[in-house]
Amino acid sequence: MGNIKAVAFDLDGTIYTGDKLVDGVIETLRYLKEKNIRVFFFTNNSGKSREDIHRKLEQMNLRPEIQAVYNSAYATGIYLKQNHFKKVYCCGTSGLKDEITRHGITCVGEKESPDAVVVGLDHSFDYAKMTAALNLLRNKDCRFIVCNKDRNYPVENSRLMPGCGAIVAALERAADRQADIIIGKPETFMLDLLCSDWHLQNRDILVVGDTFDSDIAMADAYGAPSLLLDADDTFAGNTKKIRNLHEIKNYV
Ligand SMILES: [Mg+2]
Repeated sequence: MGNIKAVAFDLDGTIYTGDKLVDGVIETLRYLKEKNIRVFFFTNNSGKSREDIHRKLEQMNLRPEIQAVYNSAYATGIYLKQNHFKKVYCCGTSGLKDEITRHGITCVGEKESPDAVVVGLDHSFDYAKMTAALNLLRNKDCRFIVCNKDRNYPVENSRLMPGCGAIVAALERAADRQADIIIGKPETFMLDLLCSDWHLQNRDILVVGDTFDSDIAMADAYGAPSLLLDADDTFAGNTKKIRNLHEIKNYV
């Protein structure tokens, strides 16, 4: 793996599950700190602002600087700013809207000719919002920007909740067009952002995550080394795997 300068950890299922830290997190972060390896936290979570996620990590006694946290809501705000969007129609939580407005973009209603429809996880997504977004997306000049295409996510008692991707799929079907831009994993925008923020290159960053199609696929697409955390050894494909976080020591 050469000279790893930073490790980018997925959050859900890698650093924590619900409100519980995954085994080995504290020791692994301490080990990386001693080795002067930077640590970043990477999540597709689009329902929370960067501050919300940072706060959760603090409450779990991890104390990263906020600049080390990358989530798809924050990255969406950056993307919209970098690409000079002015006003968007947003299907998303207040966390996503905060990130958008913080970056100087206005969230507007259907009637105000937004430049884009932006979709994140939205617990109050309904038929009225779908109708508004559909009619905006009939205009090909209106960009269709989505935080991620995650199908679902786990909650307590082994239940699943529909993910951002389920809302995106409804809109793609209704509007008969595909999303133009996907911000989160497995796309590489967030890694690219990290590299430019911290002057790192793809080979410098080890990506560690528990989902092949998201974490590892992003790393592969970006040419970054990666480790799949596969505690139950269920993944059959060909990738470097660890059973627990302690095994990171074997690679960095
Ligand atoms: Mg995960």
